[in-house]
Amino acid sequence: MPELPEVETIRRDLEPEIFGRVIAKVDVLQPDIVLPPHGPDAFRRQLRDRRIVGVRRRAKYLLFDVEGGSVLQVQLRMSGRFALGLEAPDPAEFRHIAARLHLDDGRILYYDDMRRLGGLRLLSLRDWKLEEKKLGPEPLASSYRATDLGRTLASTRSPVKNALMDQRRVAGVGNIYASEALFRAGVDPRRPGRDLNEPEIARLHRSVRSVLREALRQAGTSFQNYRAVNGRSGSFQASLSVYAREGEPCRTCDTPVERIVQAGRSTFFCPSCQR
Ligand SMILES: [Zn+2]
Repeated sequence: MPELPEVETIRRDLEPEIFGRVIAKVDVLQPDIVLPPHGPDAFRRQLRDRRIVGVRRRAKYLLFDVEGGSVLQVQLRMSGRFALGLEAPDPAEFRHIAARLHLDDGRILYYDDMRRLGGLRLLSLRDWKLEEKKLGPEPLASSYRATDLGRTLASTRSPVKNALMDQRRVAGVGNIYASEALFRAGVDPRRPGRDLNEPEIARLHRSVRSVLREALRQAGTSFQNYRAVNGRSGSFQASLSVYAREGEPCRTCDTPVERIVQAGRSTFFCPSCQR
């Protein structure tokens, strides 16, 4: 599931290609890919002949600002991916094309989503701003401080891993990078957020930022589903310390990495490095 580094990689791939282009026509091949408030017909109509005036990311959302004050919010969820070109992409890689945005330069932006858990949502700028209010701060923003993380952790009894994944507390961190950041910080993922002391919070703040930055440099983590634009793979999977390494030796101390389930999601950690 794409997290901050993956969505940001897709954004960086797309921005120079589609910024300033006019959407000449929209085809919706899978109507359930269009999320409320609009149905597929209104969605198509309202995007037609509109210029893309911004390609942004907030949390795990990709956002296309559309001329006239709307925002096309893309929720990639499990398996959303894009291809862009004059011709249809490799059908072996893109077998579940759900929508096509025809651009005014003749190229087509394909949105493919095998599991169709994600979707495309057209919002007024005002409604998007209301949505955005529910999201926590961006952890890679220069204004994001350890005290911000400390404040949000101090208010919760939830395990620190779950708190890191809570988009209202920190935006863009999901299962992979929460596990990895906690390993780097040497913090046991089961501990209640509010029990972390100041040095631990400082370490965790640094770790969250370093792991996200490094993953971004490597175009994200590609397991089965995530691809950047046109099928490009990320390579951070080779750098993971604990995620998806159950039973394998910890890279620091050789203790086997353990897997537990927290809030229905797998957490990977080293029981001797993480206290
Ligand atoms: Zn270890």
